[in-house]
Amino acid sequence: MAIIITEECINCGACEPECPNNAIYEAGVEWAYKDGTKVQGNFQFKGMSLNADEKHEPISKEVYYIVPDKCTECEGFHEEPQCAAVCPVDCCVPDPDNVETKDELLAKKNLLHF
Ligand code: SF4
Ligand code: SF4
Repeated sequence: MAIIITEECINCGACEPECPNNAIYEAGVEWAYKDGTKVQGNFQFKGMSLNADEKHEPISKEVYYIVPDKCTECEGFHEEPQCAAVCPVDCCVPDPDNVETKDELLAKKNLLHF
């Protein structure tokens, strides 16, 4: 399952550089699949044809946010979610709306980083 940042976030920015997938963005910043990953141009994900370069609207304009399709819960990189490990207010929590198995998370990691 992906991690989500709650409204308790104090916008300290400590989590952003820790994410191996560049799945964390500052409030109001547009995101793209290619940011911090190896995907470029058109690629297939979850049965959809996507463009890695395309900019997407920010998910939050108030606090830092995590892109669910880029978060692997740090599978393939670290033993535990790095954002949750560094967050001073413990507002990086499992997202019940984005539940994924370990295999699915590793497949996502391999898609983003080959
Ligand atoms: S759990 Fe890991 S991959 Fe997901 S947002 Fe946090 S640091 Fe990034
Ligand atoms: S470390 Fe926690 S409080 Fe700081 S920006 Fe990230 S989610 Fe927000």
